Amino acid sequence: MAVLRTYQQYIDGKWTDAVSGATFESENPTFREPWAVAPDSGKEDIDLAVAAARRAFESEEWRTSLPQYRARLLRRLAALVEKYGPDIAEIETQDNGKLITEQRLQWMLAAELLYYWAGMADKIDGRMIAAPLPLPVKNLPIPESFVYTRREPVGVVAAITPWNSPGGQLLYKLGPAIAAGCTIVAKPSEHTPASALEIAKLVDKAEFPAGVFNVVTSQDREAGAALVAHPDVHKVSFTGSTATGKAIVRAAADNMKRVTCELGGKSASLVFDDADIPTAVKGVMAGIFAAAGQTCMAGSRVLVHEDIHDSFVAALADAAQSMVIGDPIDPATQMGPISNRQNYEKVMGYLEVAEDEGARILCGGPHETLGGYYIKPTIVTNVTNSMRIAREEIFGPVASIIRFNSEEEAIAIANDTEYGLGGAVFTQSIARAHRVAHRLRTGSVWINTYRLVTHMAPFGGYKESGWGREGSLEGLDAFLETKAVWTPVE
Ligand code: NAD
Repeated sequence: MAVLRTYQQYIDGKWTDAVSGATFESENPTFREPWAVAPDSGKEDIDLAVAAARRAFESEEWRTSLPQYRARLLRRLAALVEKYGPDIAEIETQDNGKLITEQRLQWMLAAELLYYWAGMADKIDGRMIAAPLPLPVKNLPIPESFVYTRREPVGVVAAITPWNSPGGQLLYKLGPAIAAGCTIVAKPSEHTPASALEIAKLVDKAEFPAGVFNVVTSQDREAGAALVAHPDVHKVSFTGSTATGKAIVRAAADNMKRVTCELGGKSASLVFDDADIPTAVKGVMAGIFAAAGQTCMAGSRVLVHEDIHDSFVAALADAAQSMVIGDPIDPATQMGPISNRQNYEKVMGYLEVAEDEGARILCGGPHETLGGYYIKPTIVTNVTNSMRIAREEIFGPVASIIRFNSEEEAIAIANDTEYGLGGAVFTQSIARAHRVAHRLRTGSVWINTYRLVTHMAPFGGYKESGWGREGSLEGLDAFLETKAVWTPVE
C-alpha cells in the first residue's frame, strides 16, 4: 500500500497532533483508497485554536496593525499561492476527485483573489454624518455635533467549509477576513482536510502573526458544532448544506454571533423556444455536469419549452453521452468521480427515487467499468416540479427535464422552490433575457451561459440558499461591524 501523506493541525503558529493523538484517513475517490492522514481534532484542540485566535485578535500587534501591513501579508500569501497553487491543485484532486484542469484554474484564480483582497484592505473607511440632530427643544440644549462611522473587524471568525471546492472556499473567507482585521479558526470538511492545511503551510511561510490563522481538522461533524458553540467566536462564515446552515443559525443565536451562510440550491436553466440550441446545450451542460454536478449552483432543473423539448433533449443527450469520463488527474478527462462514498450513495438513491416517482432515466447512471465512485452524466425526463428529484438537492450529475408552455409558467416553476441560489436564461431576445433575469428569485442569474463566478462580484442565495454574500464589497461587509462615534463641535 502507498505511504499516506500525513498532516498536523496548525494552532497559534505551531504544527501539532491532536491533543488526543487521534487521526483519521481521507479517501481518494478515484481509487476508493485512503491517501492522507489528518489529526482528528477534538474539543480541547478547538478550545486551543479559538484561544489563540482570540489572543491574536486582542494583541496590540494585530489590533493596531495598519491596513497596509495586512495587505502585505495577503500579497505575500498570494505570491506563495501563485507558486505552490499547482501542487495544491493536485493534492485537492486526490482528496475530492475534482478535475485537475478545473483545480489548476481555481488555484490560479485563488492568487488573483488574494491580490484583490490585499488591495481592499486600505480602502475600508467610514462616513461623516453632519448635523444629525433635530432642532433643539426649549430648555433642553442639544449641542451641535457630528458623528462619524468606523468599520471595525467583527472578531474571531469560524470558517467552516464543505468538500467540493475546499481550498477556494476557504480563501473566499480568509481574504476579506484578514483585510478587515479579523482572526480565523478554519475547519474544513471531514472528506477534504488537506487543502486547508496546505494553505496553513503558506500562511506560515508568509509570516502571519501566530494565532491569526488556525486550522483544526476532524472526522466528526460535531467539531464544527463545537466551534460554532464556542463563546469566543464572534462570527461564523459557513459554506455547506442548508440543513447544516440551519443548525448553525440556531446555535449561533445563543450569543448572537454574526453568521453568513452559503448554502445549497436547486437552480433552474430556462431554455426558451427562441434559444440558440448549441449555446443552450453548452450552458446547460456546464450548469449540471461540471464538477460532476457537485456544485452549489448546479442547474439541476432544466426547464424546456414544449416546442423545442424533443430536439433540445436529443442534442443534450448526445453531448452528455460524448463526455470523457475518467481519472480526474488526466487533463483530457471531462468528468471525474463523485467526491466521496457518502455522496455517491446519496446520488444513486435519487436515481431510484426518480424511477419510483415515474420519471424516465434517458441516459446515464452508474459507470459499469471504472472502479471509483463514478456516475455518468444522467438525464431524467418526464419530471414534474413536485417530484422529490425536482425539489431536493441531489448534488450529482443528474439533470431533471421539466416542460413549460409560456414565459410566465417557466418563471413560476423556476421560483417554485425553497432554494434561490442561481439560474440561467437561454433566449436570443435581449428583452426577455433581462425581463426573466429580474424575476428569478435567486442571488445570481446567467444569460446564455452558466457557472461564471468571480471574487469581484457578490455571490450568495435568496431564500434557503443562504444569508449574506461572499465576494466584492458585500463580502467585505460580512467581516465588519459599524461603530458610530459622536463629537460635539460647540
Ligand atoms: P455539509 O453541510 O454536510 O458540511 C459542511 C461543513 O459543515 C463540513 O465542514 C462539516 O463538517 C460541517 N458541519 C457539519 N455539521 C455541522 C454543525 N452542526 N455545525 C457546524 N458545522 C458542521 O455540506 P457538504 O456535504 O460538505 O457540502 C455540500 C453542500 O455545500 C451542498 O449543499 C452545497 O450546495 C453546499 N455548497 C454551497 C456553496 C455556496 O457557495 N452556496 C458552495 C459549495 C457548496
